[in-house]
Amino acid sequence: MHTTTDPLASVEQWDDYVQERYRPDRAEAEFRDYDHAPEGVRELYRQNHEFQTLAAVQGKERAYERLDRESTPMWEILERLNTLVDESDPDTDLPQIAHALQTAEKIREDGHPDWMQLVGLLHDSGKMLCFYGEPQWAVVGDTFPVGCAWSDSVVFTEFFEANADRRRPETQTATGVYEEGCGLDNVHMSWGHDEYIWMVLKDSKIPDEGLAMLRYHSFYSWHREGAYAHLMNDDDRRRLPWVKKFSGYDLYSKSDAPPEVEELKPYYQSLIAKYLPERVAW
Ligand code: FE
Ligand code: FE
Repeated sequence: MHTTTDPLASVEQWDDYVQERYRPDRAEAEFRDYDHAPEGVRELYRQNHEFQTLAAVQGKERAYERLDRESTPMWEILERLNTLVDESDPDTDLPQIAHALQTAEKIREDGHPDWMQLVGLLHDSGKMLCFYGEPQWAVVGDTFPVGCAWSDSVVFTEFFEANADRRRPETQTATGVYEEGCGLDNVHMSWGHDEYIWMVLKDSKIPDEGLAMLRYHSFYSWHREGAYAHLMNDDDRRRLPWVKKFSGYDLYSKSDAPPEVEELKPYYQSLIAKYLPERVAW
């Protein structure tokens, strides 16, 4: 039995917060003081911004890049993510898979390509990190580059005061340990479910734009606020409109009626079969 019930409950709370904070129709000023953030979310960001140093991120990358934890059919992964939620709230209607399917279904309704629908289904599956014992600060939270100065448009910038990279001057300039225009592919992003699902699916048949949606969907300071332009290259400029487009579906999916999981399963299984290997390495 897993003992990660509490972290995932916090993950859910964070999801709700993000949905509320970044809704495309929300006026910027409304949220600028972050007063709306529940205490659990503030605490999550306090830890996230303290512990996401360049060295910590590189450590997580090394710990996960071999993908030697398990090899599992994708649908089983989606069901497992749901099991965790059920433990913390037995009455609820499958929140993780509901968000996954609702995001996918909205993308499908609007006639977007099948790979983008699949990205909608899978984009939060990196929360498998909860099962591997990761604390919530290493699973969720807005993501941002590490190894260079933090943009003011990252939420709760004041919590970066406690980050050890403050005392490493080479990480505190605009480009930091990187070069102007080097491309986000060459930048270390704070560790979490975005980076992990990208790692897991980067060698699948999902096209480049889809991989960018997976990797950067929580990178709000970039795709919503326009920060970090100095690190972008032409690939990033091409990917950005896709990531923005995806974000709208991610944020707006929650208001819908719960999806008919069993009814939708065959269709999404066919997309999984088209783009992913039978077993996915985690
Ligand atoms: Fe997410
Ligand atoms: Fe999401």
